[in-house]
Amino acid sequence: MLTVNAIAATSPTAPLEKTTIERRDLGANDVLIEVKYSGVCHSDIHTVRGDWGPVKYPLTVGHEIVGIVAEVGSAVTRHQVGERVGVGCMVNSCRECENCLAGEEQYCLKGNVGTYAAVDRDGTITQGGYSTHVVVTEDFVLTVPESIPFEKAAPLLCAGITTYSPLKHWNAGPGKKVAVVGMGGLGHMAVKIAVALGAEVTVLSQSLSKQEDGLAFGAEHYYATSDPETFKNLRNTFDLIINSVSAPLDINAYLSLLRLDGTLVNVGAPAEPLPVRAFSLIGARRSFAGSNIGGIRETQEMLDFCAEHNIAPETELINADYINEAYERVLKSDVRYRFVIDIATLV
Ligand code: NAP
Ligand code: ZN
Ligand code: ZN
Repeated sequence: MLTVNAIAATSPTAPLEKTTIERRDLGANDVLIEVKYSGVCHSDIHTVRGDWGPVKYPLTVGHEIVGIVAEVGSAVTRHQVGERVGVGCMVNSCRECENCLAGEEQYCLKGNVGTYAAVDRDGTITQGGYSTHVVVTEDFVLTVPESIPFEKAAPLLCAGITTYSPLKHWNAGPGKKVAVVGMGGLGHMAVKIAVALGAEVTVLSQSLSKQEDGLAFGAEHYYATSDPETFKNLRNTFDLIINSVSAPLDINAYLSLLRLDGTLVNVGAPAEPLPVRAFSLIGARRSFAGSNIGGIRETQEMLDFCAEHNIAPETELINADYINEAYERVLKSDVRYRFVIDIATLV
């Protein structure tokens, strides 16, 4: 066992605090990673605050992890000591169900093993990336291309793949009109990736306060959803809408913006139901869908795509001590556009 520094939540309401956690001894297929940077995803906040149900405390969250391989187990072939690597939202799956065999481990029929708050194979509860080291089985460790600035790379491991996967699945590309609802961590990556795929991108944000940024990320249009004219003017417009909002929304209002055969994909994961009227769908053969992160093969494809297209998240590097303020700012949509913890400050 390795005892390492970490940040943990001790209850749904108490501030996160510094602590130590245990990492397992290196198995034959395991990689020991010295974590360098760890992104702060809104899912971390939903989880520690119990929005999605009770969790076991103390809990260390964080599933946007990049670091350097410090040691490899005797049977490891995919990664080497010194390599720049990443770990996203899952650290294992059954590897034998039809979804795992199709490379869609995130939809493992036995449930993928989440990077935190999940029951690991040895029965322990997994602990995430707000820590100095992590031990992960090699097949769930990604290679981070050298050309992506390392201090910006971490958010790709969740925000990047969670938006890349549905954009690819629903064929965002030239000739397609794509809207992104909510321009936070996921939303700003959805804009950059959809633009790189060649789609005509529109941002639908609560206000116009981030308009300049949205257009700089390559969006052609930007509208405030607080303005009722937005919904009148954009009726029947989009082929694809990616909703990244962390809170409940009037989904019917957004469905009305889809053209014939359009799809609204929810990646935002509020705990509350999102009621859909049948007429919102049947009036234009519309679809309402959801999408969960992406498989390991697709995550590597996304990292390579971002390297090739010079795409990196917009990040604000923070010290470990700033984590509670960072959470408050994420909850106020006051993030430009992802907080990343500099793990060197976790001493
Ligand atoms: P985030 O950085 O907080 O961004 C969410 C954005 O939603 C905000 O920046 C804001 O954008 C908008 N928003 C927030 N509250 C709103 C409200 N009450 N009404 C309307 N708009 C609101 O969060 P994130 O890290 O991108 O995560 C977004 C959601 O995706 C979370 O629920 C998270 O758990 C979920 N998630 C899902 C997956 C998956 O696999 N499906 C993976 C990762 C995260 P504007 O200021 O532009 O309006
Ligand atoms: Zn996440
Ligand atoms: Zn499986």
